[in-house]
Amino acid sequence: MLANHHDQTTLWVLGSNGWMPSDGRQTCCFLLEIAGELVLLDAGTGVANLSLVPQVPARHDRLHVLLSHYHLDHVAGLMYLKRFASHMRVDVYGPGRPVYERSTKDYLEDVLQPAVYSSGAHGFAYEVHYHDYGGADFMAGQLAVGVRPQRHSAPSFELRLGDELVYATDTSFDASAWANVAPAEVLLHECWQVGQGDPRHTSIEALTNGLPQDRFGRVLLIHQNPAWTAADRTQVGRTALAHGFELATDGMRVDLVHGL
Ligand SMILES: [Zn+2]
Ligand SMILES: [Zn+2]
Repeated sequence: MLANHHDQTTLWVLGSNGWMPSDGRQTCCFLLEIAGELVLLDAGTGVANLSLVPQVPARHDRLHVLLSHYHLDHVAGLMYLKRFASHMRVDVYGPGRPVYERSTKDYLEDVLQPAVYSSGAHGFAYEVHYHDYGGADFMAGQLAVGVRPQRHSAPSFELRLGDELVYATDTSFDASAWANVAPAEVLLHECWQVGQGDPRHTSIEALTNGLPQDRFGRVLLIHQNPAWTAADRTQVGRTALAHGFELATDGMRVDLVHGL
């Protein structure tokens, strides 16, 4: 670890889509250098975009992968880590027991079973460890991670890293749950639809109507819907712009000022 990276927090958007890749956007994955730790928020196909910043994984010997839930668009990229993490200890933290019937290790050993992925759930890094956070706040190395339950088709969790970053994806939007939210420098929030539709997800209107935007320095819209028409995307983009939100794009880098 180079000393000058300890104090700087940097975020790279590696995957800004939900469900499936489309038009240059991979599925949910965000890379962070924070408090001297290397973190991935979810491990969708965006893990492949570590190829855009190979120097970042190369300067760490440990990686923490924090999972919001286990849907495939959030875990499919674990197998791509083999290209970037062969020198690293990787710790994967998922909800697990008691909010799910089985542990994070159980689910990911199924997803990455050798008949499906030859390296298996323990072969994509130098060492792999699985942990259940069970819906409660936890430590990832030196990093305190705040956890809040969300409403989705399977239990999913909002993850907060102090006053720097909040990650909220695969959730319907409940304005009352955000009324007293503590400030943070960056909010990554899903934006899945225009108008009413899927009750497991969030619309652009729900965000513009109910999000207390003044609590956040920047709001980046993620888990974008690959099924949006060009007209949908234009409408989301215009509405986002009018409210000071940004549509995240793969490869986007955000240098947080906190901790400098
Ligand atoms: Zn998803
Ligand atoms: Zn999901």
